Amino acid sequence: MNLCPPPNIPISLQSTDNRGTWRKPHRHRMYKLVTDRTWTAICCAQILNLIVCLEGCILTKWKMREELRRWFIQQELDLFRFRFGELQDKQQEFLKQNKLEYHAITEEEKEHLSIKLINSNGQIDQTYYKVPFTDVLELVRTRKAFIKNGLVYIPHPEIVIIILNEFRKRISKSLALTSRSLPVVQSDERLQPLLSHLSCAYVGQDYSIQRNVGTISLDQLDSLATKSYPPCMRQLHMALRDNHHLRHGGRMQYGLYIKGLGLTLEQALQFWKSEFIKGKVEPDKFDKLYAYNIRHNFGKEGKRTDYTPFSCMKIILSNPPGQGDYHGCPFRHSDPELLKPKLQSYNIPLSGINQILELVKGMHYQLACQKYFEQTHNIKVMMPFLVESDILPARSITLYVSSRSRPTQSRYNSASNPLLSGVLLNLEEQMGSINLLRVAEVGFSLCHPNQYFIESQKVLNSRRDAKKESSQSESSQRPGYTAC
Ligand code: SF4
Repeated sequence: MNLCPPPNIPISLQSTDNRGTWRKPHRHRMYKLVTDRTWTAICCAQILNLIVCLEGCILTKWKMREELRRWFIQQELDLFRFRFGELQDKQQEFLKQNKLEYHAITEEEKEHLSIKLINSNGQIDQTYYKVPFTDVLELVRTRKAFIKNGLVYIPHPEIVIIILNEFRKRISKSLALTSRSLPVVQSDERLQPLLSHLSCAYVGQDYSIQRNVGTISLDQLDSLATKSYPPCMRQLHMALRDNHHLRHGGRMQYGLYIKGLGLTLEQALQFWKSEFIKGKVEPDKFDKLYAYNIRHNFGKEGKRTDYTPFSCMKIILSNPPGQGDYHGCPFRHSDPELLKPKLQSYNIPLSGINQILELVKGMHYQLACQKYFEQTHNIKVMMPFLVESDILPARSITLYVSSRSRPTQSRYNSASNPLLSGVLLNLEEQMGSINLLRVAEVGFSLCHPNQYFIESQKVLNSRRDAKKESSQSESSQRPGYTAC
């Protein structure tokens, strides 16, 4: 059962590590979905990002937690459901090819049962199949189908439930079989490093290259933590300020993050030292025990590797926090019972909290974080793009419409794409008469805490600029006074 055939050309080890080459055609399809701006689109875009990071890895890396395996199967099922829907009139052909033939009931039988079928499903003008009730327990459980003599009458669109069950069975079996060959695969020294790193592979922007070095002062960190930090880093910053200490996992996660923000080595040393000294650490002890690690992160000690700030996948998948730790991703590692009050303390409205918790329940941690971004920045992410997409540049696009100071020309910071320009112009046309300063944020697909920070700063800065511009245009319209 395959909707995405494997490549029939030689694939080098490097290219397997290179963004899921053979799934590339689907990125274009996903993009199509994204333009629909539906919830499914958002999910699929997210799934795609994750798959690009994970594909090829989970199938072979059986040692990963059971929970992750279930998560992977769920994502594959969602993707399969989407692709199957895309087949439309080729669905029958697909079923035939995979020996999943279900026999439609005759017109006479349909006529005979018409009232019952309408009562159960509301529609009669479609093909119905008779299947054993054990194949569609979900429909039976939710009482969404008519049952007679142990057979369930399902309309054609519901056939996907059976196909998904079958797909789930086959993918679980493949995972089990693959796990048996894992010891052999792992003993191959060419594959070993690939496998050990692939689960945390990150293909987004590299934040190890320090940009904006020295533009942030240490005094600004508290305010930035509240306004522009993602929850994982906000949590670490608060814990450091409260306890004047962080354990190794927290120091690594937060230390590399602030390095990615543009803090210099001297600033980082000063920051950590001043905070640890407020606790019980003597200055000498700090220099001996902790300063080395900070210099190490900046590539000034040991192997002199310039370490990269952790991506969301790395934070979510590796080194879970223990008792007394503050690192990790709050959406992944916090108990929902504790997450709720934490979000309340960040002034997230209840409706937003519920949406976030719902996403967390579905294991969509990065989407939950994106929702948190929306709530804290009071914006709507209207069109998520695929990060690293071949089709569109992965950057945020903002559109302002103000009836008082409506710009003569649309101000998009990415008008290079005609499709986007069209969409945005349309929006502007529709919403131009509304007195809103900020109508839409056209978004990003979150995969890195430093990306969260950059996007947040973009939003806040553009908002500030827009206000400035609006007040300037107001003052220029006021009648002038001539001194006499
Ligand atoms: Fe941090 Fe990423 Fe989790 Fe957001 S999703 S809290 S940025 S690790």
